[in-house]
Amino acid sequence: MSNRFDSKEVFIERYKQEVSETYGRDFEETFPAERYQVLGKMIRDYVGINWKETKNAIRKSQSKQLYYFSMEFLMGRLLTSNLMNLGIYDLVKEGLQDLGMDLNDMEEMESDAGLGNGGLGRLAACFMDSLASLDLAGHGNCIRYRYGLFKQKIVNNEQVELPDCWLKNGNVWEVWKPHHAMQVPFGGQLDAYMDQNGKFRSNYHPEFVVRAVPYDEPIIGYHTTTTNTLRLWDAEVDEDFVQAGQLNKYLNDVMAITANVYPDDSTEEGKLLRLKQEYFFVCAGIDQIIRSHLRAYPSLDNLGEKVAIQLNDTHPVLVIPELMRVLCDDYDYEWDHAWDIVTKTVAYTNHTVMAEALEKWPQEMMRSLLPRIYMIIEEIDRRFKYEVDHKGMGHVWNNVAILKEGQVHMAHLAIVGSHSVNGVAKLHTEILIHDVMKDFADLYPGHFNNKTNGITHRRWLLYSNPQLTKLLEETIGDSFKTHPEDLEKLMEHVDDPILQQRFMDVKLERKQILADYVKKTLGIDVDVHSIFDCQAKRLHAYKRQLLNIFHVMHLYLKMKEEPSFRIYPRTFFFSAKAAPSYMLAKEIIKLINMVADKINNDPEINQYIKVVFIPNYSVSVAEILLNAADVSEQISTAGKEASGTGNMKYMMNGAITLGTLDGANVEIVERVGYENAEIFGLRVEDIEEVKKENSYNAWHIYHNNYRVRRVIDSLKNGTWSSNPDEFQLIYNDLLLRNDEFYVLADFDAYVYAQRQVEARYQDKTSWARTMLINIAQSGYFSSDRTIREYAKEIWDLHPIPFKK
Ligand SMILES: *Cc1c(COP(=O)(O)O)cnc(C)c1O
Repeated sequence: MSNRFDSKEVFIERYKQEVSETYGRDFEETFPAERYQVLGKMIRDYVGINWKETKNAIRKSQSKQLYYFSMEFLMGRLLTSNLMNLGIYDLVKEGLQDLGMDLNDMEEMESDAGLGNGGLGRLAACFMDSLASLDLAGHGNCIRYRYGLFKQKIVNNEQVELPDCWLKNGNVWEVWKPHHAMQVPFGGQLDAYMDQNGKFRSNYHPEFVVRAVPYDEPIIGYHTTTTNTLRLWDAEVDEDFVQAGQLNKYLNDVMAITANVYPDDSTEEGKLLRLKQEYFFVCAGIDQIIRSHLRAYPSLDNLGEKVAIQLNDTHPVLVIPELMRVLCDDYDYEWDHAWDIVTKTVAYTNHTVMAEALEKWPQEMMRSLLPRIYMIIEEIDRRFKYEVDHKGMGHVWNNVAILKEGQVHMAHLAIVGSHSVNGVAKLHTEILIHDVMKDFADLYPGHFNNKTNGITHRRWLLYSNPQLTKLLEETIGDSFKTHPEDLEKLMEHVDDPILQQRFMDVKLERKQILADYVKKTLGIDVDVHSIFDCQAKRLHAYKRQLLNIFHVMHLYLKMKEEPSFRIYPRTFFFSAKAAPSYMLAKEIIKLINMVADKINNDPEINQYIKVVFIPNYSVSVAEILLNAADVSEQISTAGKEASGTGNMKYMMNGAITLGTLDGANVEIVERVGYENAEIFGLRVEDIEEVKKENSYNAWHIYHNNYRVRRVIDSLKNGTWSSNPDEFQLIYNDLLLRNDEFYVLADFDAYVYAQRQVEARYQDKTSWARTMLINIAQSGYFSSDRTIREYAKEIWDLHPIPFKK
């Protein structure tokens, strides 16, 4: 127990000693960064006991374990979360205070682990927190990218990408495990032959071998012993595999694999390096699973009973052929037996229905980079065709083939090789079953299921909004901390005027914290009594930040034209990164910033409207932005946002959803009622209808709708920019490419919905009541609920039994 500190005094004593011994000088002489390093190390050591106990308990009870394979984990900072989950936050905070330090300053020293793009990576991080907190053995498997996505700056109104050097001061949470390294082979030749029993054999001579070295991070559950592992693989050179005269090329190739996160989680291009990354962390992750399974059990026959693998989107789908390769080639399984084991073990989560975002790889690229894996995919495809024909479904073959038109269709491989395929919100799963994956749903009716996404209420409520947490505790007790569905107890109090007032005070406090941040970092003054209207998410045409800024432009132009027209003061917050090569998205960022510039500096208007673009959207920004919101903008084109999770974070902190009937918005409204949200715009059925009739014409709206025309004309007439071609891509996208995402079609409905929001805000009692109802109904969206569903319905995973 030497690593434990059970009292403030012991902590102070040990902390001072560690700091001073580590840096060889008196505590008082050390730097904050040094003190942060030691604090982190002490906490990591503190959890070492639980980490070991968890591993022992799993081994003794032979519990089943889950491995969550994801190319992205958007963890954010971990200091607060770890201290709070361990239940030593106050002890450490007070201890540091006695030493004249502020825990907040220590928190600021940590870089966000930004190992992801957005929602998909953040989902993986929330799942890790819930798994450990529910005492489930569930581990993450990913890549240790040396650089995160990128750091966004706005220079002359435009996005500039800077490297995100999140490791520059090290990573206090990780433990380097070089003795668990393994080799990942790429390219080269495969010599196939039959052995004397007529069984297929091959000798593989790879062109290129990389050493995969794991770094493990403890994932600490809330007030429990369970401590799982997030394993991040780094690529290093293999000393024995350098080819003559190619040393520098080899070093560079190896370094490139783990250099950075691929930008954008939904419009992939077929890049060789990306495919290397995918196989790299799949091959290493599978090797670890096999080795650890064989330490506990005599064979791999029971792999599916002891291991579940969840594929977060198709990025890790090579798990399926890789596991087949290991079973058949390395452990001599017959194909059918191996296939049973693989499909019993693997399950797949779909995250998108947008055709251009479904992953595909050129067959030639796959064949030359991964010759044996490609051969196995061919065999899977061949046998699948036989199965389809056998089921009398030959007529759909062209829709379901894994290999077609020179490409490998990764989603098809994922579905064929899994026992479960899930969507991430009810509507999304419906669209999968009835539209995008219809033929697969007919082939495997029992495989498709829904698991509506969730967020960890610990990070997104308890830790990032202590003011609201305290008010909730005082009102309904603290059972909601471990049972978030108990937030519903708040329903009994939503009409209490005193609670309403206290809640509005809490909201004001959060708005002030955000306002101070905006003042400090951007120099912009915002009125905390204005409506805080927020849209923070990746920049994508389908998410329609354009619709939002068009409304702002409309308000401005109308106020300029009609001096009698004035609005209730509003602050529009935007935060969004665009993929570096996504030109339209970058132009939209520029438009938002130029509109902001113009409006914020117009004394006639800026008492009514402010526009704030907060750079570098990240978990840490989200933690202060979302809980200050009055209005949550969730305005994607219906049918395009699979679920969304930002919507849930706002809801849990009381914001009202201004949204389309898309993704999980549908389930939010189902819970709070239409009267406690503001829903507008075309629904999925409406859009299908319009498409079927081929009746949509953006020019027609432009010519017949004065307000739309006024906004679009302002793009070119010098209102926002002296360069008439500044916003040409936006203009072309709407008018020459017929507005693929129905921005103009939904414009009037959106403007009307915004008027409704404004009117509702001014009835303070009813507004407070609506916000409280949103909080009360948000418990369902805790990722604890989501993870329980996965555990029961997909993984058959049960809590680790700890001996008391
Ligand atoms: C929650 C979150 C997202 C996902 O937001 P959506 O609105 O669901 O797209 C993206 N980035 C960060 C940093 C988040 O915290």
